[in-house]
Amino acid sequence: MIDLHAHSTASDGVLSPTELIQLAVAEGLQAIALTDHDTVDGLDEAQAAAEASGIVFVPGIELEIDWQPGVFHLLGLGLKGWTGPLRSRLVRVREYRTERNLRMVDRMQKAGIAIDYGELIEIAGHRTVGRPHFAHALLRKGVVASSQEAFDRFIGNGQPFYESKRALSVGKACATVHAAGGKAVIAHPNTLGLGWDEFSRTLFRWKHEGLDGIEAYHPNVSLPDAHRFASLAEELGLIVTGGSDYHGIGRTDRRLGRSSGGQPIDARFLDPFMEAA
Ligand code: AMP
Ligand code: ZN
Ligand code: FE
Ligand code: FE
Repeated sequence: MIDLHAHSTASDGVLSPTELIQLAVAEGLQAIALTDHDTVDGLDEAQAAAEASGIVFVPGIELEIDWQPGVFHLLGLGLKGWTGPLRSRLVRVREYRTERNLRMVDRMQKAGIAIDYGELIEIAGHRTVGRPHFAHALLRKGVVASSQEAFDRFIGNGQPFYESKRALSVGKACATVHAAGGKAVIAHPNTLGLGWDEFSRTLFRWKHEGLDGIEAYHPNVSLPDAHRFASLAEELGLIVTGGSDYHGIGRTDRRLGRSSGGQPIDARFLDPFMEAA
């Protein structure tokens, strides 16, 4: 059993990189990837912890891609270095986020809500400021009665305080992952907002833009759909991976090393990352 998709406190996970590795060892995993959202900050710590315990560590990242019909997250897996072009690209990505956040603050201020960016930074602690922190601020001010209400009425996609942010194109993101020595894999393909036919056609295009694989196995993808994604990948000569997308949150549908239908993730998905360098 392995896991090729997990988060730590470097993004929105609950466990520190070291704690995540320790849990993976305790669960008997042979290998684990750390794939935090738009950051490589946890990789050095996780790698050191993995070396100390003997588990195979797959350095990774989960990048947000500019994609309209749905959510497109791209995993960069098996990174061999994360200090060069990848890091400078991530600086740009953070700038896109800050720009977007400031536009959202502006909308709120214009609507008469007393909010400033410093307050959001404080709520976020050392972490990246995101919409969950805006929700927290609206809750704290009594504008909404719950965080979900904040999303439903104000900051969810298409709501009055929502602003979209710039994101990487598939081609740029794949090239950045390749430059860091990794493979570019579509995460949770069910969130793309594409039907099967459209998905197959679009995959051809993405393959030519540098896509290497599909995370067919994910807790939010049913087992029959996962098999279908896997067949499609194989037909196109793409690699197949599986991950739990573990965040350490108290969700019974997410367990390290388990994906579609709660099935353990097959260690053969590690093979493409173990080939001689
Ligand atoms: P951001 O990256 O700052 O745009 O924030 C995205 C995060 O906001 C997601 O990871 C979710 O945690 C949360 N989120 C987005 N849309 C919703 C929604 N409709 N309801 C609840 N949470 C949401
Ligand atoms: Zn996350
Ligand atoms: Fe994701
Ligand atoms: Fe994820």
